Amino acid sequence: MGMSCPACTTRMCVVHSQSFDNTTQRWYRCPECGEGLRTCETIHLGGAKRNPRGSAHPNAVLTEENVRALRDAHERGVSLNQLATEYGLNRSTVIDIIKRRSWTHVA
Ligand SMILES: [Zn+2]
Repeated sequence: MGMSCPACTTRMCVVHSQSFDNTTQRWYRCPECGEGLRTCETIHLGGAKRNPRGSAHPNAVLTEENVRALRDAHERGVSLNQLATEYGLNRSTVIDIIKRRSWTHVA
């Protein structure tokens, strides 16, 4: 493994490398023409899959504000199908919200 200089194809030297979480950045320099290059590699530690941090909980799509707006819109006569489309939800999810079977803590 090695980097070739994009300018003169000479094998480049690693001048510096730095590791973060699961990525390694390497700075290369061409000994021939002085061209610099930086690469960023993802390394998988022990082949273990890491969960991405802050992955969204399915329910996190909605906010309390959304829920109030959705119920409000329903009271104004907006159809369930329209609400489902507008909020990207299943019809049954919309019904649960309107019938207060979910998000019961939202007034
Ligand atoms: Zn070069």
